[in-house]
Order: sequence, then structure tokens, then C-alpha cells
Amino acid sequence: MNFYANTLKNMSKAAKIMNLDQETLDILSQPQKTLIVSLPVRMDDGSLKVFEGYRVQHSELRGPFKGGFRYLAEVDLDEIKALATEMSLKCAVVGIPYGGGKGGVKCNAKELSQGELERITRKYVQAVYQIIGPHHDIPAPDMYTNAQIMAWFMDEYSRLVNQYQPGVVTGKPIEVGGSLGRNTATAQGGAFVLEEYMKKNDIKAEGTKVIVQGFGNAGSFAAEILHGMGFTIVAVSDSRGGVYNEKGIDPFCAAKCKEKEGSVTKCKEGKSVTNEELLELPCDILVLAAMENQVTNKNMSNIKAKIILELANGPTTAEADEYLSGKGIVLIPDILANAGGVTVSYFEWLQNQQAYYWELEEIQLKLKRIMVESLDRVLDLQKKYKCTMREAAYISAFDRLDKALKLRGSGAPLRCKVYYK
Ligand code: NAD
Repeated sequence: MNFYANTLKNMSKAAKIMNLDQETLDILSQPQKTLIVSLPVRMDDGSLKVFEGYRVQHSELRGPFKGGFRYLAEVDLDEIKALATEMSLKCAVVGIPYGGGKGGVKCNAKELSQGELERITRKYVQAVYQIIGPHHDIPAPDMYTNAQIMAWFMDEYSRLVNQYQPGVVTGKPIEVGGSLGRNTATAQGGAFVLEEYMKKNDIKAEGTKVIVQGFGNAGSFAAEILHGMGFTIVAVSDSRGGVYNEKGIDPFCAAKCKEKEGSVTKCKEGKSVTNEELLELPCDILVLAAMENQVTNKNMSNIKAKIILELANGPTTAEADEYLSGKGIVLIPDILANAGGVTVSYFEWLQNQQAYYWELEEIQLKLKRIMVESLDRVLDLQKKYKCTMREAAYISAFDRLDKALKLRGSGAPLRCKVYYK
């Protein structure tokens, strides 16, 4: 099942449990606007390559479209539609005033020079700038896009509209309107949710073994933060494979290896494991921080973790979700677990509007409050509807989206499909 079909399946299951108005479900089951663009870019060797790019605007019922963009060779429109849909739900789960959107360019960022990445980014902005803006659609980093790419994005957009507009994109470097705490926000938000869940269930960090799949922005900071909280990180991985040591791995050491040698597989702290093996190793908590469709019907019966924290978007298929939940494994769903990223993006955008910047302590306090309140609301709904945490998170989001739709009336949202290159 593809990621988008998976998301739609999760939506219809939750809608049925809460008896959501069918019209609301119909509206949310399609993105508002889909833009496909082609980007001719001059490469370093003088040749010209044409890249395909996307921006999907799923819903602006609760505020401007919001969501990252990724640079990935395998990216396709259905994946972006799924991610955009999840963004609308995610912003609603944590109650921040945004809708959902997502974007991407089909390219292999690992094989591109800095100059090529900059030219692709500027071309992408030129192609989408008419449908984005600080009060309309605000992109951010995602897989293989980073703060530098956001700086180029903001610069190109500001040039095109002839006005300094830092609020058009979040996840920027601090020097050009970024927020303190944004680089660690996805991991930190997930850690706050996990900590609170464990507190409620009287589970201690000490002696609890954690595996982290994916060692990029979300995963590397998650490993470091959880290590700092007293958890034992027994395995970490990236796209090339992983390392495992049942006694524990120092994630700061793994990060140094990744920086120096390009992969955590070079880390001498543990023995090498394949990406397939890593997910099936013994542990208490599995943090999924790589990408979608990682726990599927192929490996679900071999998963040993008792808690799964989804920092990646869509890492568990609907079938695996049903199977694992049936076995009593707790899945803390993506739209709640990784919402810290978009929450601090919201703080960054607010700071850009005011041109006044907050201290890190203030950001962490505000983030913790939002994450804990959102978890509490999800757990209350889970109790009320006797459902899984994922279903409860979808219900939490639907409730807020449905109310917004009813309040705004039949004119909203504007439906418009655009396919052009
Ligand atoms: P990133 O590009 O910084 O890192 C991705 C990491 O995953 C890399 O280390 C890569 O080597 C690794 N990886 C890729 N395929 C793998 C595989 N099969 N097995 C193990 N590792 C693999 O990306 P990121 O920003 O950390 O995003 C990771 C996930 O988190 C994505 O699903 C993204 O949508 C989601 N997410 C990110 C943010 C954010 O703020 N960055 C916010 C919410 C959700």
C-alpha cells in the first residue's frame, strides 16, 4: 500500500470511530491545490538537467499552508500528497494556527554540489513563489534539505517580491531570522511526549534500551537528547546501515563518525547491522526517524520494541499498525510525536512577524507545554473512544478541522486544482 493510500485509510478509520461528518472527510481526503513544476538547472559540468518539483497545498482551513520540502530521487506526487495531508492533521493535533502543505524536488541531494543545490533551490522558488508567502504557504526543511537551503529560499523569495520576507520559510539559520531550538525541535518535541507518556505509566529512563533508525536531523538529536535523559541507546542507523551494542552507544561519538566519515556505520562503538536487522533487534523503545514505510507486513512480527516513537512521517503501514496495536505495542503516532518541528517553526514565524527574538528557555517551555497538552488531549480521546493512540490523534485533529470548517461556512475551503509545468 502506498503512503497516501495508507494515510487515507487511517483517516477513514478514525472518521468512522468518531462519526465524523462525511462532507468534512470528503473535503480532507483531497488536497486543495497541487502544483507540478519543471526546473531546468545548469550543472557544474555545463550540462543542463531538468528536475521535477512539487508543492501540494492540502488545507488552509485553520491557517496558512505549512510544511517542509524534500530533495529525494524517489519522491513522487502521492508521497507529497500524503505528507501534506499529515501536516494539516499535525498542526491541528498540536493546535497551532496552520493548515498543511508539502513540497519536494526529485533529485539526489547527496550527489549534488553546493552550487547545484543552490541553483535547484532558487529555480524551485521561482517556480512556486506565486502560490507561497508568509501568510499563505510557509515551507520548511525536510529530508535532505537544511538551514542553508532555507536561507537561499528566503533570499530568492525576498528578491522576487522586492521585500525582506524572513517569514516565508522556517528552519532558517539564526543569522537570517531562524529561531533558537528549531534544529533540535522535532527530536525535543518527541522526547517531551515520550517522557510524559513514561511518567504516566511509571516507566524509568534508566535501563530502558532504545534503537534509533535514521541519523539525520530528527534521529541524531533524538539519540543525543534521549541519551542525556538516561536512556541507553543500543543501536543507530543511516541509509548505509547501522551499529549495535547491547551495552550502549555514545550518540555523540556516532555523530562525529557521521560528520567525518559520512556514515554511522564507521562508528567503532558497536558491531555492524543491516537496516533490516536493526529494526528487529531487542530493545524497549524503537524510534523511527528515517522515512515512510519502514515497519510493514514483512517485518512486523519480528519487532521486539514495546513502544514505537514515530519521528518520521508515515514509518508504519496501516497493516503493521493494526498488528502491533493488537499485540499491545504502543505506537506514539507521527502526527503527535514529530509535531515539535512544526511547533517551533510556528515560534520562528511569530518571531519573524515581530522582528523580536526569544530566549531558548522560553522556546523549550512553550514547546513542552504544547506537546504535553496535545498528548493529554489524545490520551483522553483514546480513553473516550477506546481506540489506538493513532486513531485518537486523528480524532483530535478532525475535531478541530471540522469545527473550523463549520465556522467558516460553505465558502471554505476554496477548491482549485492546478497541474502545470
Ligand atoms: P534528514 O535528511 O536530516 O535525515 C534522514 C536520515 O535518514 C539520514 O541520516 C539518512 O541517511 C537516513 N535514512 C534514509 N533511509 C534510511 C533507511 N532505510 N534506514 C536508516 N536510515 C535511513 O531528514 P530528517 O529531517 O531527519 O527527516 C527524517 C524523517 O523525519 C522524515 O520522515 C521527515 O519527514 C520527518 N520529519 C522531520 C522533521 C524535521 O524538522 N526535520 C519534522 C517532522 C518530521
